[in-house]
Amino acid sequence: MTVLVVSDLHLDAARPEIARQFTAWLAGPARAARALYVLGDLFEAWIGDDDPDPHKREVVGALRALADRGVALYFMHGNRDFLLGERFCRDTGGSLLVDPTIAEYAGRRVLLTHGDALCTDDAPYQRLRALVRDPVWQAQFLALSIEQRSALAAEARAGSRAHTGAQAPMLMDVNPEAVASAFRSAAVDTLVHGHTHRPGVHALEVDGTARTRIVTGDWYSQGSVLSWDTDGFRLASLARD
Ligand code: MN
Repeated sequence: MTVLVVSDLHLDAARPEIARQFTAWLAGPARAARALYVLGDLFEAWIGDDDPDPHKREVVGALRALADRGVALYFMHGNRDFLLGERFCRDTGGSLLVDPTIAEYAGRRVLLTHGDALCTDDAPYQRLRALVRDPVWQAQFLALSIEQRSALAAEARAGSRAHTGAQAPMLMDVNPEAVASAFRSAAVDTLVHGHTHRPGVHALEVDGTARTRIVTGDWYSQGSVLSWDTDGFRLASLARD
């Protein structure tokens, strides 16, 4: 049976058309799958599992409905929604995966990662990543009120936009050495990640062995879905009405 992989939906009340397309897909084609993997940045921002934002609750409900039909749900943290926690998992009926994780798709070992950890040329971002992944920082943030957390998240997004706009495009892509090292340490020949918003399938060689790097795309103007079954994989975009 088919496994589906998506990432980088960046769901946000300001862009309701993305959630409309995604929830329709969850209630339709996704139901035929064995499992759905969300490799990070499902949400544009996640300030804690106690956020009552109705837009987010609707998405959680749509995921729950899919889990209730027997589709296994797996979530990986992205750089936007790294605070997805245990209550989110209970609410959706899914499980969190550590980044990176090795999964088995149709008998093939596949390394899954969000992708931001591979962008090692962006030193300021990697410093920020280490900070916000620190459990002490996270506990302090989660102790703030919803309003305080919302305000800080908005500030962080503005800072991120300024940073992304000022960086050379090549610094925002994955670093080839980091990719080679990921293949090597996991001893796999296939890697799937998102984050860069550059969907594609790349053939490369590491230590004399042919490898494949598959990049799932963002959902800003269309959907992007990797599907995998015994016949192999297919990376497709989903047109938006
Ligand atoms: Mn990302």
